[in-house]
Amino acid sequence: MRVSPDHIYFKDRQSRFIRINEKLARHFGIAHPSEAIGKTDFDFFDSKHSRAAFDDEQHLMANGQALIGVEEEEDWRDGHVTWVSTTKVPIQNDAGEVVGILGISRDITARKIAEAALRKTNEELRTAKDAAEMANLAKSEFLANMSHEIRTPMNAILGFSELLANKVRDPRHLEYVQAVHSSGKSLLNLINDILDLSKVEAGKLNLELTAIDPSSILRELQTVFSRKVEEKGLIYTTDVANDFPKAVVLDETRLRQVLLNLIGNAIKFTEYGFVRVVARTEMGATDNELRLVFEVHDSGIGIPEDQRGTIFGAFEQQRGQSHAKYGGTGLGLAISKRLVDLMGGKISVESTVGKGSIFRVTLFDVEEALMAESHPLDSSDSNATILFEPATILVAEDVLLNRELIHGFLADLHLEIVEATNGRDAVKLAREKKPALILMDIKMPELDGFQASAILKDDPSTASIPIVAVTASTMKMEEERIKTVCDGFLRKPIGRTDLLNLLRRFLQHTMGAPVAAQASPGAEEAFCSLDAVQVHDPEGLRRRLETELVPLWTGIQDVLIVNQVLEFAEKAIAIAVTHKATRLANWADKLRNDASLFDMHGMEQTLAQFPDFLAQL
Ligand code: ADP
Repeated sequence: MRVSPDHIYFKDRQSRFIRINEKLARHFGIAHPSEAIGKTDFDFFDSKHSRAAFDDEQHLMANGQALIGVEEEEDWRDGHVTWVSTTKVPIQNDAGEVVGILGISRDITARKIAEAALRKTNEELRTAKDAAEMANLAKSEFLANMSHEIRTPMNAILGFSELLANKVRDPRHLEYVQAVHSSGKSLLNLINDILDLSKVEAGKLNLELTAIDPSSILRELQTVFSRKVEEKGLIYTTDVANDFPKAVVLDETRLRQVLLNLIGNAIKFTEYGFVRVVARTEMGATDNELRLVFEVHDSGIGIPEDQRGTIFGAFEQQRGQSHAKYGGTGLGLAISKRLVDLMGGKISVESTVGKGSIFRVTLFDVEEALMAESHPLDSSDSNATILFEPATILVAEDVLLNRELIHGFLADLHLEIVEATNGRDAVKLAREKKPALILMDIKMPELDGFQASAILKDDPSTASIPIVAVTASTMKMEEERIKTVCDGFLRKPIGRTDLLNLLRRFLQHTMGAPVAAQASPGAEEAFCSLDAVQVHDPEGLRRRLETELVPLWTGIQDVLIVNQVLEFAEKAIAIAVTHKATRLANWADKLRNDASLFDMHGMEQTLAQFPDFLAQL
């Protein structure tokens, strides 16, 4: 008992100490164990703890059951606190009566203090982690919102400069407009990059996995870069291994983004020689694992060894690199790395300064698909003529500039456009006009586009009208929400090709041959043959041209009054649409364009082609 590390004591039925060991005496702060005899807990501890201990002991003695390993907080009379783990058992005399208790307790104060400190640290860590997550979320939301705010005016900048570029004739002015357009595009790219990076960092970027054909992406990229490659006099090759799968399950957009960035860099940093893109498979860890490797080789400037790691960081470029010569933001590789990580792959680089570099993307355990999904709505045939059947489109958009832009894009398509400037009017007009399609801006006053769409989809008289949401938002959540009520989705800034592709999905139309006339205005070949699309009732068309257009044409041919030319052009367009006469439509469209630009020379030339056209028929 003397050497025991635990406190040992005996108490009588009144919970008075009969005997205690030295360890407990020290714990009580008394010189000798005998000093405790006859005293109770009340003499040492605060009354609350003493009372609780007393009650426990009385209860224990009454029912004869032991208390084992109970942790107790001891509040001392001087205010300090200690902790013990206590075991108390009843003691019986020879007659079997309970005469007192034996208690053994161990001081666990040090452990309790450590536990409390650990709890506190954990709590602090949790709070710090929550705060960091909140901050990261706030950052990504801020960036998403800011990019939304920037994208909206970008819509006007990019859209109108695209429209203007087709109209401006003065080469110097055209250069200015093109500069506005290309700077606008760089700014948009930068915004998109920053947004992508913050999205991946905040864990908000989800991969959209579909069955894709990676080699078709490589072919497409070769076309994308062909002009640049030609300008620099480089040799660009794409080598796809024979055993490379035709279809795999991957995120097409993100894979393209990574390859686009690597190939773009390879071309940018190579003055002479070659860029070679390789797609091959590699042995997996198991027989079943399909491992894909994409490599971009170049014979460019190379990267010093000490910088081969840092260039994958955000905003990192080679030290001392000329910004005037290479430009860039140093975000491309940072994003690529994060995207490849997200795809469960790795990206690496080998390089020799002055000789060139090899960037390698390895994707592990890729799933092979039976067949790649086709994407019929790409922009490859965007310069083919699309002839829409007459239809009404409701454009719901509160910003005038954006409405004008959509008007501009749709101007040549002979579609009737009705406009609403808020969600409430959009609902009203949709019910009245029953348009063939609604372009619905999401952020609008009164009722927002989402609410308006929900109302229309709930109303049996309008439920079948396709609604395309137009939004500058890039939040996945918003996109998901929109998908629940809308049939399509257009992201601002809207481009003409995207818009046309979308209209083709929802509106009746026929496709004509590529518009040669637009590439070379006034070209004689504009209608040197009949339309590529089967003209509907050519004989009827000829009759209408002769009876309805020829008299008008004779009247305006010499005097060139703009309003009359416009009227003539509109009439010709209407006839062309009814007869699906693509070339006539294009010709009349050009005439209308000339007239609206007061281009006297153009009008004269275009009008002069009319007899040839008739002769063709
Ligand atoms: P950016 O191209 O906008 O500068 P990236 O993140 O794509 O940004 O690239 C970061 C840097 O890595 C580049 O600025 C360049 O210094 C270096 N780098 C990338 N690719 C190559 C390459 N193929 N050859 C030489 N240097 C490269």
